[in-house]
Amino acid sequence: MICSICKKGETSVVDSRPTEDGTAIRRRRLCVCGARFTTFERVQFREHCAGKNMDEWIDEGLDTMYKWAKSNDCQGVEGVGREGFWNWIKKRNWSETSRFFEIRFDGEKI
Ligand SMILES: [Zn+2]
Repeated sequence: MICSICKKGETSVVDSRPTEDGTAIRRRRLCVCGARFTTFERVQFREHCAGKNMDEWIDEGLDTMYKWAKSNDCQGVEGVGREGFWNWIKKRNWSETSRFFEIRFDGEKI
């Protein structure tokens, strides 16, 4: 793990334990420069949903995803998508919790 202070990769783990809810591992790290910081290790799943005629499959697709997540003791599902997908998903009881930003150095608008 690279230290965010000195940018060297000479850090060690001094403590490691599960978070209170058990969904992640919290690690206290110590760098040779003396900096201490915390990292979290979580399972991350990413599935890509795309296709034509979303009206025909989106609800079945979401139901399948919800059933899988619940059967794996997930407390919810997070998603990332373009504005058009947000317009679909917000009608299905999802909440917006954050926004992603991006800039392209080739000047292309996304
Ligand atoms: Zn350091």
